[in-house]
Amino acid sequence: MNLNKEYISSNNSYPNQKASYIVIHNTDNYSAGADAKAHARAQHDGNFNGMSAHVYVDDKSAYQAMPFDRGAWHVGVNYGGRLFGTVNNRNSIGIEMCVQAGFDYEKAFQNTITICRQIMSTQGISPDHVVQHFDVCAKNCPSEIRARNDWERFKQAIEKNAENSSATNPTVSGKTKANLTGEISLRFPEISRGCTGTAVSMLQSFLEVDADGIWGADTDHAFKSFQKNTNQLQDGICGKNGWTAIVNHMKENTFRN
Ligand SMILES: [Zn+2]
Repeated sequence: MNLNKEYISSNNSYPNQKASYIVIHNTDNYSAGADAKAHARAQHDGNFNGMSAHVYVDDKSAYQAMPFDRGAWHVGVNYGGRLFGTVNNRNSIGIEMCVQAGFDYEKAFQNTITICRQIMSTQGISPDHVVQHFDVCAKNCPSEIRARNDWERFKQAIEKNAENSSATNPTVSGKTKANLTGEISLRFPEISRGCTGTAVSMLQSFLEVDADGIWGADTDHAFKSFQKNTNQLQDGICGKNGWTAIVNHMKENTFRN
């Protein structure tokens, strides 16, 4: 689906954002015609007071209203959200799903998934960094998705996409797959700097650094380079995304004589 860029502006934004999260919202604007284009145009024309978002999606179209490297005013006031402070207006991309009068919920929902997956792919954001506005601020948002208990379906859809994509976007969640001798399902431990043990040795062998089983500076540097080369977030944490990228790399570079 095409992300229309006709109404991009810097209104109501902060400079120099480094986006590592996506926050999903509903506009809660039930007026007739309050669709994606109308919201993007209103933001572009300076008609929003103290609020903004990067992208507006409705049941037929999607409009980007702000560059992704600028921070939008979309997270707002905290009512006790578990991620408040972690996710903020300077490190996240806000996607608003429009709920104008007579909107087709399922189409709007699917379009929001499609656009979210596109942005995850182009900005290198993993499925576990896609959150509800509710998670950040405890505001009842995205209200329509929440009212239908549909957040899990949303998460499954964005994870499924990652699993189906190639090694250029290995932001896979859920089970880890390998197809060398049939398919196996594995769950590796999440490891990072300071960890020791077998999983670290294994990772070090893969990274071709000294396999002493202790994740120090060299391993950290090598792993972050690997994350960069495989379009992952360079957070230095080898969890399900990292292990899956490793397995995919092995699959593509292992040959039977
Ligand atoms: Zn919201």
